[in-house]
Amino acid sequence: MSKVLICAEIEDGRVSDATLQLASAALSAMPHSHRSIAFVGDDLSEIEPAAAALPADTVFLIEHPALKNGDAGVFDAPVSVLSSLCQQEDPDAVLLARTDYGSNVGPRLAFRLGQSAAQDCIDLAVNPESGRLAVTRPVFGGNAMAVYEFTGDGPQVAVIRPGCFDSAPLSGGFPEVIRFDPAGAICEPRARLMDTVAAQAEGVRLQDADIVISGGRGLGGPEPFSRLEELAELLGAAVGASRAACDAGWVEHERQVGLTGKSVTPSLYLAVGISGASQHMAGCSGARNIVAINNDSEANIFQDARYGVVGDWRQALPAFIAAVQDLQND
Ligand SMILES: Cc1cc2nc3c(=O)[nH]c(=O)nc-3n(C[C@H](O)[C@H](O)[C@H](O)COP(=O)(O)OP(=O)(O)OC[C@H]3O[C@@H](n4cnc5c(N)ncnc54)[C@H](O)[C@@H]3O)c2cc1C
Repeated sequence: MSKVLICAEIEDGRVSDATLQLASAALSAMPHSHRSIAFVGDDLSEIEPAAAALPADTVFLIEHPALKNGDAGVFDAPVSVLSSLCQQEDPDAVLLARTDYGSNVGPRLAFRLGQSAAQDCIDLAVNPESGRLAVTRPVFGGNAMAVYEFTGDGPQVAVIRPGCFDSAPLSGGFPEVIRFDPAGAICEPRARLMDTVAAQAEGVRLQDADIVISGGRGLGGPEPFSRLEELAELLGAAVGASRAACDAGWVEHERQVGLTGKSVTPSLYLAVGISGASQHMAGCSGARNIVAINNDSEANIFQDARYGVVGDWRQALPAFIAAVQDLQND
């Protein structure tokens, strides 16, 4: 495996954390490969200084007016230019993050290149015998892991779940920066975005939060979530939930953490009244510290929790909130 290409993303004018995680995934699985990172957008001037210091051998800047916001949800233009770059560079592996962009662009790009893509990879390795990429993916609703190895020649496209690798440093590299002219590769989009409506979001975004406080069925109803909100406000945290709590209509589905919800990688994940089903843990196992409050000492969550309170949240949570308030008032 001699060449790996990372399809980068920009978030709020900065190199996204998921991109830095891809850089670290490439470094750990393919330490001796030539690493390239490709940025696609209508104006990359803001990102260029940071991109030029990334830990890579080459950075490609692909700029064109048709590449605004990753093609605004249509993805035809980024797929065309990335496929043209792959034809020129002939990477052995192409890595994308399992974001809206990566999970849409990855399979389309693989199709254009006559290859297949592996979605939702949580680990990467190179089989030393075959020299091919082997990816680990959750199967059977997250109850088992399967390792797949690519077959065939050409770029092996892996879409990697955010939070499974630490972020590579944002600076310290001396890549060669190359402007790739996409003009000949831009195709007429087959769909056009007519309008976007931003979701109403308050407070810290779940995926970006350094502290996440999640509630489950054990809370017993929607009202206790206001206690979680209260604690979240004190700690600058985001509030998440288990699927059981979302399905019960206690909180919006956007808050769901897990296999079919969001993946979070905070420093602290506080799980209140959550049993710790594998499908829930699939979304929070990347947390540095899991702390659980559960009245069942046999609950699964205690197997993953660094600290746990065996008890009723009605007693443990108010005491915890009071302790945080005391500390903040000191
Ligand atoms: C294909 C598939 C995908 C799924 N995807 C997801 C997903 O993305 N996210 C997800 O969360 N789930 C997902 N699930 C559902 C998952 O299997 C569990 O059913 C769900 O996570 C359970 O939620 P829970 O822990 O809140 O509820 P429960 O399992 O009912 O656990 C409630 C916990 O609260 C505790 N408790 C009760 N009362 C108190 C109290 N007073 N004080 C303290 N603790 C108390 C109980 O001891 C119990 O451990 C998925 C399932 C499938 C099949």
